[in-house]
Parts: sequence; C-alpha cells; structure tokens
Amino acid sequence: MVPDRTQVFIAGGGPFGLMLANELGRRGIGVVLVDQKPGTTENVQANATQARTMEHYRRLGFAEEIRALGMPADFPTDIAYFTRFATHELARFSLPSAREARQLVSTLSGSWSAAELPHRCNQKFIEPVLRRHAAALPGVSVRYGVRMRGFRETQDGIEAEIEPGVTVHARYLVGADGPRSLVRQQLGLRYTGETGVVRDFAGGRMVAVYARIPDYYRAIPHAPAWMNVNFNRERRCFMPAVDGKEEFAFHTQLKPHEEEERVTDASAVAMVQQAIGAPLRVQVLARAAWTAGHSLVAEAFGRGRVFLGGDAAHLFTPTGGLGYNTAIEDAVNLGWKLAAVLKSQAAPQLLESYEAERRKLALRNTAYAKGFADSLGIEPPPEIEDATPAGAEARRRAGEHFADHGRREFNIPGITFGGRYDGSPAIVPDGSNPPPDTPNAYQPSACPGGRPPHLWLPDGRSLYDLFGFDWTLLCFRETAARGRENLRILRLDLPEARDLYGADFALIRPDQIVAWRGNADAAAIAALDRLSGR
Ligand SMILES: Cc1cc2nc3c(=O)[nH]c(=O)nc-3n(C[C@H](O)[C@H](O)[C@H](O)COP(=O)(O)OP(=O)(O)OC[C@H]3O[C@@H](n4cnc5c(N)ncnc54)[C@H](O)[C@@H]3O)c2cc1C
Repeated sequence: MVPDRTQVFIAGGGPFGLMLANELGRRGIGVVLVDQKPGTTENVQANATQARTMEHYRRLGFAEEIRALGMPADFPTDIAYFTRFATHELARFSLPSAREARQLVSTLSGSWSAAELPHRCNQKFIEPVLRRHAAALPGVSVRYGVRMRGFRETQDGIEAEIEPGVTVHARYLVGADGPRSLVRQQLGLRYTGETGVVRDFAGGRMVAVYARIPDYYRAIPHAPAWMNVNFNRERRCFMPAVDGKEEFAFHTQLKPHEEEERVTDASAVAMVQQAIGAPLRVQVLARAAWTAGHSLVAEAFGRGRVFLGGDAAHLFTPTGGLGYNTAIEDAVNLGWKLAAVLKSQAAPQLLESYEAERRKLALRNTAYAKGFADSLGIEPPPEIEDATPAGAEARRRAGEHFADHGRREFNIPGITFGGRYDGSPAIVPDGSNPPPDTPNAYQPSACPGGRPPHLWLPDGRSLYDLFGFDWTLLCFRETAARGRENLRILRLDLPEARDLYGADFALIRPDQIVAWRGNADAAAIAALDRLSGR
C-alpha cells in the first residue's frame, strides 16, 4: 500500500528522484516516491559519475560503496579512440583506475583539489544503491510499479492521483519523471533550446545495445579502456565497458537509410561487429533507441508547490557525461531547501532560489555538452582506413584531434567543481570577483556562490567530512557564535585554510556552497537568518 499522506510526493525513481528522497529523508522529511517501472533501470545509460557527484555521495555516506561498483578496482578508466576497435588506435587519454583514484585524491591540488575523484560506473549499478539508502530512511516510502496519472494543486498542498480513485496528499510535488515528464506537461511548461541537431555522430537517432562480447579483451590488440570510441565512415559508436570483463554499452548512430523499426537482434549484432572490425561473438542483452542532439532546458523549473528536476527539467546530449550529474545536483539543491521550509527553518521564498540557481546551471551544462558533441561529431575523411600514406596521414590528424578532444571532454574539473550561483537570492555576495568559468581548469575560491575550497587536513581527513549535514560556520579564529539545530560551528586553526578562504569566517550551505564570507561572526549569523527569510 502507498501511504496516502506525506510531505513530499516524488513522481519518478531515476537518479534525480532517488537522490532527492535521500536528501529529504536524511532530514526527517516524509516522502512518497513512485515509479512506473518494475524496478530501477535495466538500461545502460549514464556511465560517468563526476567528482562533485561523488563528493555528494560521500556527504551521504555511500561514496565508497559506489566506488566499488562497476568495473574491477584495477581496471583503467582510459578513453581510447580507434578507427575500429580491432584495427588502428588513434589516441588515448589515460586516467586512473578506481583503486588509483582512491589513493591519488589526497595527493592532488589546484584543479583537482577534492574529496573525491570521478568514478566510471553504469547508472544501472548506481540506482539500486540510491534506492536502498532512500528506502531505509524512516518516513521514506519508495514504490516501483506505480504510475502517477496526474495531480491537482489544493489550498495548502497537492493531490497526486496514482490509481483511479487513489490519491496521495502532500505539501509539495516533485516531477522527477524524466524527459517526457507528465508533471512538466501538466504545468504547461515547454523545453526551450535546441533539438534535432544533425551531426555525423552524436546528432541523430541512436541505437543502444547492451552487449556481451566474451572474447573482446582476448581478441583486441590494444590495451583495455573504459570508454572506446571509433571513427570510420561505416559504423561509428561509443562503447563504454560495463563490467570490465565482457559487458559493454554500445551506442551507434543510425545512417539516414537505416530505419529504427527494422533493427533486429541480428542486425544489432552486425552493427557491433562492424564497429569492432572483427566477427566476434556478440550477445544482445537489451536494446533501446534514443536521440542525440538535444540541448533543452525547461522554461521554468516548477510553479507553486510543484517542482521539476533532472531530465524533466533539462535534456542533454550525453557528451561530457553531464545529464545524470546535473540531475543529482538538482536534487542536492532542492532537498535541503524543501526540508528547511517544511521544518519552518526557512521561509517558503527560499524555494525560489532553486530555479534561479539550477536553471542557469542547466543552461551552462547543456552548452558545454553541445560543444563536446560538435567536436566528437566531425566527419571521418574517406581515406581514414586506407593502407596508404594518405590514410596514415588522416589517422595521424584524427589522432591529434581526439587526443585534444579526449582531454577536453573527460578532464573537466572546471565544469564539475566550478558551477556557481552568483546573483541567487540564497547567496550573499561580498563584492569579490568569481574565478572565470573554464571547463578544464578549476580555481578554488571562497567567493560566495561556489563550491568551498577543499583541503586535506594534517590528520588526513577531508575538510568536507567535518562540515555539518546542514549549515556550517567555518571559523579561522575565536568565535562567540553558537551552534543551532541546523548549524555546526567548525573552528579550524590552520593558517593555510584561512589563506584559502580569504576571510576569518565562511558560511557553508547544506549543499556545500559558500553562502557568505567575512571577518565578523555576528554578520555570518545575520546572513544565515536573512537567507532563511527569518
Ligand atoms: C544512452 C544514454 C547515455 C547516457 N550517458 C550519460 C552519461 O554518461 N553521463 C550522464 O551524466 N548522463 C548520461 N545520460 C543521461 C542520464 O541517463 C539521465 O540524465 C538521467 O537518467 C536522468 O535522471 P532522472 O532521474 O532525471 O530521469 P530518469 O532516469 O529518466 O528517470 C525518470 C523516471 O520517472 C519514471 N516516470 C516517468 N513518468 C512517470 C509517471 N507518470 N509516474 C511514475 N513514474 C514515472 C520513469 O519510469 C523513470 O524511472 C545518458 C542517457 C542516455 C539515454
């Protein structure tokens, strides 16, 4: 039975809905989440968990669990480009395995000064972890196999209809229902932006094949990679490793003469073999079709007591691996705000900052993803596979392009750590200038509106592990400020940290964003009260 009364009703149990249920449930908020599918996704979709998402999983206490998922711990997470997988390797961008990432992170500074590095693992392994943690929280009810049919707004809440005649009453409704969002449609909100962009690759109708290729690593004459991308005129694809043994998520773009309805298991196998360039045994585990070439953002992220997030609010081309990660950060942003309002710790106006902050980030991130798709989608020259000097020259040039492209698309600390909420009503500016927004470099800065600079403490702990689950007042000198139910006072006697933050005090929001900084603790408390609308 689905409870008929709750505080927040979430329609959709993909990454956004599940993460939101965790954020709310951890703060003691009652949640009912329904999803029409029988369980979490069986499709192989997102493959890249960015470092910032990993930091949020760490905050919730399950980053280690996630890092253990997917490929074996010592499997390289290289990105490699080939004409076909069995023939010429064109370029390779080498990245650490999960085990190396765990060891490396505490030695890095500058752009990669972080509590966590990225993790390469398919979404289908991650969703069950998010689900299990959400469902274990008191007050959170997670129900798969239940569809929301529509909703009504009432005077002081919403009513969601889940079966004919079965209604759940809640204070707020969140549309976590993906690209075809019923919630967005019922609100009459449109996606704006670009759709239907045509490219030689990463722009058009795509066929996804979840494939088992048992002989792949024995038969391919190249070092294993996590992301395998090919570049020829007959069959282009990207094909991340799923388990590092024999399973792959193959994604190809249909040619203009190929019809999606006519794709069969047999023709899907032929497509995978064409991309490999060798007739290896291929077993089709699942198939799906999707479209690449969207950069879409909803005109609004909700209305009244109804909010949208994740794919319901923005739709990406998967280059850069930003769709799922943007969805997770939406949930992180909305979660603490809804909880604060429901617990009367903040005025409802705080919720207006959700759209102000996240819509801007969605526009930014979809634009970055589009740029990567344009660079990946270039057309291969006719001679790219020829055994001639012209062919060799074409491969050399393609190698140069992809060596550069790989670094630009897959080394993105600037995108993952550098997102900012300047101008938001939930930030108090201090007159300083934020660092420039550049995709491949991140400049730590405590200028209010961005991620707090990270630091490994002399005892080996991450600064982030000392932050409170709600607000934190970070103090680099004595303070008279007292903690509250939702505020931790964190005294740190570390000149190096004071230098990094550029002030005696910094107020850190529950989503680990600097809200305010300055040299007077009384002003910090006043800022917290002002931001909370109290
Ligand atoms: C091929 C492919 C590759 C991708 N690769 C990447 C990548 O590498 N990195 C990345 O970051 N992103 C990637 N993405 C995008 C990523 O998968 C999505 O951005 C992510 O799943 C969005 O999460 P979500 O929770 O917003 O939506 P979804 O995952 O779509 O979840 C929405 C849920 O709502 C449910 N639902 C819908 N309507 C209702 C209803 N009326 N009632 C109840 N339930 C409902 C659906 O069943 C679904 O489970 C990829 C996507 C695809 C298709």
